[in-house]
Amino acid sequence: MPHDPVPAGFDPAEMVAVLRTLVEIESPSSDPAALAACAAEVATLGERLLGAAPEWVEVDGHPHLRWRWGPGAGGPAGERARVVLLCHLDTVWPLGTLEGWPFVVSDGVATGPGAFDMKAGLVQGLFALASLGADGRDGVALLVTSDEEVGSRTSRGLIEAEAAGAAAVLVLEPSAGAGGALKTVRKGVATYQVDVEGRAAHAGLEPERGVNALVELAHQALAVTGIGDAAQGTTVTPTVAAAGTTDNTVPAAARLRVDTRAATPEEQARVDRELRALRPVLAGARLAVRRETSRPPLPASASAELFVLAQRVADQLGMGPLEQAMVGGGSDGNLTAGLGIPTLDGLGAVGGGAHARGEHVVVAAMPRRAALVAALIGALRQPAAQPS
Ligand SMILES: [Zn+2]
Repeated sequence: MPHDPVPAGFDPAEMVAVLRTLVEIESPSSDPAALAACAAEVATLGERLLGAAPEWVEVDGHPHLRWRWGPGAGGPAGERARVVLLCHLDTVWPLGTLEGWPFVVSDGVATGPGAFDMKAGLVQGLFALASLGADGRDGVALLVTSDEEVGSRTSRGLIEAEAAGAAAVLVLEPSAGAGGALKTVRKGVATYQVDVEGRAAHAGLEPERGVNALVELAHQALAVTGIGDAAQGTTVTPTVAAAGTTDNTVPAAARLRVDTRAATPEEQARVDRELRALRPVLAGARLAVRRETSRPPLPASASAELFVLAQRVADQLGMGPLEQAMVGGGSDGNLTAGLGIPTLDGLGAVGGGAHARGEHVVVAAMPRRAALVAALIGALRQPAAQPS
């Protein structure tokens, strides 16, 4: 694969130049002004490469971009594009990260904050769509959202509406592993908060009159961990805890955050049930369990047919066999798979180190992945090839 010729129409130098432009406009999920600046640049790039300006959809200060071609573009309400591409422009990196870690290309590898997750995937998606020409984009929609890294609270409605009725959702998140494996199974992710209510008392004078919320929390942290099931790949992890006010007071309140991951909807439902069934151990303590965020799993059944199609397309392009991987992290592909829409994820950059300093992109793979996405869209637009 490393010695494959560069697919016609994809100039790696041009792709890297666009990647540099996007990485050098930092875009942490929590900074509306930074997100708007990056979104404006993506809109300009899209207009140049695709010949059309996006719709700019702002939700609670988050700018999201939407391109639609053919059905769905000004068509009757409810008519939807047949293929939806999902990208996000936000990153996990705070403003200023670029100062200590500038965008650099060396030895065929590009690095910089957000390069791998997922600005390179976004660049590949834009070039893939550009290569198809206006006719080839008929029936395609591209969403570029700006809150994926913080749970897609403001974009979820847009994503779900666009995906409804689509034949396929292609997610340009980074691939897995050095070989560029597609992500065909993603665990569902839900986070919870457990609030513990005890009763304050002086720790020296009359501690027996108190109900120690911190001790109760300790019991609950252990109970929560026990809900995990390694054999099923289900993890339940206490992540953040807080309790107490002063050194000499029995704590009246405590809170625990819990991260949960499960590969099937059934396991996710079981974890939810068991967390909600937690009961206090100490007499007089009270518990409240609240789910904060939730993305359903992307099960193998959602990606299987698309993976077979991608494999066939890759063969035709002479790209050799594609690999697939199950990953613990969620993406917007979980949302569309949760609606029963065929979804294939990890079609973006080849490289590594997502969310870690030094995340990087294999430059030579950028044209190949763009060509793969373009050919996959082409195959999906032939009715016989669509997954049912
Ligand atoms: Zn991402």
